[in-house]
Amino acid sequence: MEKVSARINALEESQTIAMSQKSRELASQGIDVINLSVGEPDFFTPDFVKAAAKKAIDENYSFYTPVPGYKELQEAICGKLKRENNLDFTPDQIVVSGGAKHSLSNVLMCVVDKGDEVIVPAPYWVSYVELVKLAEGKSIVIETGIDSDFKITPKQLEAAITPKTRVLMLCSPSNPSGSIYTHNELKAIADIVAKHPNILVLSDEIYEHINFTGKHESIAQFENIRERVIIINGVSKGYAMTGWRIGFSASAKWIAKACNKLQGQQTSGVCSIAQKAAVAAFNSDGSTVKEMQVAFKRRRDFMVDAFSKIKGFRLNMPGGAFYIYPEISYFFGKQYNGQTIKNADDFAMFLLNVAHVAAVPGSAFGTPNYIRFSYATADEKLKQAAERIAKAVEQLK
Ligand code: PMP
Ligand code: GLU
Repeated sequence: MEKVSARINALEESQTIAMSQKSRELASQGIDVINLSVGEPDFFTPDFVKAAAKKAIDENYSFYTPVPGYKELQEAICGKLKRENNLDFTPDQIVVSGGAKHSLSNVLMCVVDKGDEVIVPAPYWVSYVELVKLAEGKSIVIETGIDSDFKITPKQLEAAITPKTRVLMLCSPSNPSGSIYTHNELKAIADIVAKHPNILVLSDEIYEHINFTGKHESIAQFENIRERVIIINGVSKGYAMTGWRIGFSASAKWIAKACNKLQGQQTSGVCSIAQKAAVAAFNSDGSTVKEMQVAFKRRRDFMVDAFSKIKGFRLNMPGGAFYIYPEISYFFGKQYNGQTIKNADDFAMFLLNVAHVAAVPGSAFGTPNYIRFSYATADEKLKQAAERIAKAVEQLK
């Protein structure tokens, strides 16, 4: 009998991946779709990283790897955390997994018990609430909007904490809003968490290098909660290595040990060649990252300028990542060819079918009046996309 488990039945499909798939399908029918749905750098992996991978193949790095990663890679990650973040970690606090997504999943599985509450500020990245569900936890969503620059306030956090709170998820720079918590904002959050010794902070810093406001701030810098922060990061965004699947967690030893145990049964150590490539990335001087940053900032400026001229789009100024997240409720109730746009999902489908631009509706991120566009694509394509969208929305009456 074809019967999928209740666990998987309850799981939503990833909408970022689904929209990207839809856009590929239209493209395969010969339609010229501009895909601003999935968020991945359009740059190639740097040559020195590729060279390290080729060398690893020639040197026969073909055997099983240690479950939490090669020692050399754990050391390179500790070096990166010291050099770039001024944080002291030892290799036995690092677990390397198949992407930051896998690291997030491992940590949630290891620290959340059935019924534990996980505070998830919205807009959140698509996979957070689904991963919490898999860990049998309960997401407690704190909704934010454009007027607070998509950031939670200490007051909101305080109000969401209960005796069952186990984890606070943070993502800065944020996917999907691009917002970045300042040093003082993080400190205020840390001071609240410090009063509740049972709470862990899962800090997703995958967009660390795509920051147009200055230096990256990690909540792990605050000594009063230092032992309770788990940093998640990887090479996907900063080194344009999405397909290599390398992410890591940096945490207290007891959490690293638990992730190691889980990974030992579930997946084992990740790909040997990708790990050797990641060693080169984490040991590098960051110049390739800076080149990408310049391009992303130029594109951010272009998108904000172009979209703020479109009537009905309300924007913030994203400080990092490569997304723009306009509020679009102005269009709800308007019609095209007799069809009413009722919500952001309809608006996204309208843009896909009429403007041939793919984007992800805010419902995927827990804030249904918004829509996410990724600008990690060529400048010329962004220009075309903005023109097409402006023209399409003029047809809504
Ligand atoms: N966290 C956030 C906020 C992301 O946007 C992504 C990218 N999809 C990930 C984690 C996962 O990254 P990775 O490719 O390393 O699994
Ligand atoms: N970070 C990307 C996004 O949000 C990747 C897609 C995914 O892994 O879900 O679009």
